[in-house]
Amino acid sequence: MPPRSRPPISRALATGRACRCPNCGQGRLFSGWLKVRNDCSVCRLTFFPEPGYYVGAMYLNFIASALLLAVLYVIALPIHRFQEAAIASQVYGWGAVGVVVCLSLMRFAYSFWISLDFWLNPWEPGVEHPLG
Ligand SMILES: [Zn+2]
Repeated sequence: MPPRSRPPISRALATGRACRCPNCGQGRLFSGWLKVRNDCSVCRLTFFPEPGYYVGAMYLNFIASALLLAVLYVIALPIHRFQEAAIASQVYGWGAVGVVVCLSLMRFAYSFWISLDFWLNPWEPGVEHPLG
């Protein structure tokens, strides 16, 4: 069987942003807030090609969250109210913001991870991942 052609990157980014199946663009990736389905309800593409598949998504989430927190921190620097707060209050406050940012980006990290992997190395619905 010839290798499957790569879908356009715009499609991968669109399905990643929409948290949809990278193959058909219709099936939902999540069955709950953070629970990834086993496969697509429309085309049967597996969403768990191999054990530990989403560890890379966790790294992606960490990097995106750290960058967003850095941007938020720089934006907050000119605000004197933040600078005058006690160090402990700043640490707890930024820690809480970090948790919220990390949880907010987690779905998108998982979705972009599988979408970009599918774009790089697409696999057929109902079969194992080509590298798995
Ligand atoms: Zn699908």
